[in-house]
Amino acid sequence: MSHCLTAHSIDHVILERGEVAHSWKTERWDSLRLLTPNWLSRLPGYRYEGADPDGFRTMPETIDFLEGYAATISAPVRTRTNVSSVRRVDEGYEIRTDQGEWRCRTVVLATGACNVPRVPPVAEALPSSIRTLTVKEYRRPDQLEPGGVLVVGASASGTQIADELQRSGRPVTLAVGEHIRAPRLYRGRDIKWWMDAAGVLDDRYDEIDDVTRARNVPSLQLAGSTERRTVDLNRLTGLGVRVVGRLAGIADGRAQFSGSLRNQCELSDLKMNRLLERIDAWASAQGLDGEVDSPHRFEPTRVEGSPPLGIDLRRGEIRTVVWATGFRPDYSWLDVPVFDRKGRIQHEGGIVRSPGMYLMGLPFLRRRKSSLIDGAAADARDLSDHLVHVLHHPAPGAVG
Ligand SMILES: Cc1cc2nc3c(=O)[nH]c(=O)nc-3n(C[C@H](O)[C@H](O)[C@H](O)COP(=O)(O)OP(=O)(O)OC[C@H]3O[C@@H](n4cnc5c(N)ncnc54)[C@H](O)[C@@H]3O)c2cc1C
Repeated sequence: MSHCLTAHSIDHVILERGEVAHSWKTERWDSLRLLTPNWLSRLPGYRYEGADPDGFRTMPETIDFLEGYAATISAPVRTRTNVSSVRRVDEGYEIRTDQGEWRCRTVVLATGACNVPRVPPVAEALPSSIRTLTVKEYRRPDQLEPGGVLVVGASASGTQIADELQRSGRPVTLAVGEHIRAPRLYRGRDIKWWMDAAGVLDDRYDEIDDVTRARNVPSLQLAGSTERRTVDLNRLTGLGVRVVGRLAGIADGRAQFSGSLRNQCELSDLKMNRLLERIDAWASAQGLDGEVDSPHRFEPTRVEGSPPLGIDLRRGEIRTVVWATGFRPDYSWLDVPVFDRKGRIQHEGGIVRSPGMYLMGLPFLRRRKSSLIDGAAADARDLSDHLVHVLHHPAPGAVG
């Protein structure tokens, strides 16, 4: 957004409570690599130039990349400036920070989608002997004492952490609710290559059937690794991970798992196959069938005959619970009435229902790729065009 505003000669400032790339520096586990290949982090005028375009950035490499971009575009970042309130005032907005106040005509909220881990209320019923960690707190296996781990949630973070913990020698039980299975490689190419080339990542918020639903679907079960590993449930059960249904409750120290595991897995296989069908249709239409491997389907997710419906958490078998149950944004500092009943900001493709206010970086904000680094460029281009129009055509009554 800063790049686009500069291109439009719009005077602006970026307020950041930490440093550039703060979330990557402080909120990720040690072994994490981006699940998007190196080439798929294209920012305006800046892209991967190294020798391994199909590799996956480590965290230090991701931080270098973003710091390099901020320096290249001379982004006017004020670091260590925490925004504590944003209020509407006649001519625009008043921004309070721990480094003083700002006034602006327009404001872009780019504070991220993953500020607060969503921990389900059942967490309160866990026996006090069990240690709990959220994905944001998890760093590496030796942070956990030896013994069994219950990982709750089987999307990108949960499956990656379950894989790492199981390989560290801690027996993992993985509680699986709604999830979306995806292979790392399909027909000899990276799944993200296919999704980008076939236009899946460019699907627009105003052209799909149910955008509210699309904004809430979990992340694909994908990981970035040098071996290009797929981290689906078949891989995890092959490693020895015990797969159970969604954590439905905890009563008298006993965790209860939903009986819908088989259904959830069938649904997930179905969604994966729909994606592969779309890719195959696109490949045929492009005449690619002779150039890439033939279409094929993956073995359905294996589910054991009668997965356990409960575990007694007082028996000592489970020492730690890792909540990999997603995140929500934090807007506690936003004092403008733009929220719906569920506390979500009401907006139309990032244009908030408060004049001159914009959002960036949320799932499916304008496109399927909106919450990826690679999605920022197109969204910023659209939203900065709108912002410039608003600045040049102020609403009647607004001070110019
Ligand atoms: C575990 C995980 C893995 C991911 N993997 C990938 C991946 O492989 N590929 C990919 O493209 N994307 C990935 N993402 C998404 C990516 O991290 C970003 O969410 C996305 O790029 C959007 O970036 P952003 O700058 O909008 O948000 P963020 O990166 O969250 O940045 C928001 C910034 O706002 C600052 N901030 C928040 N509140 C305030 C305040 N009140 N005052 C001042 N500053 C504030 C924060 O300190 C932070 O620096 C991943 C996300 C997570 C959580």
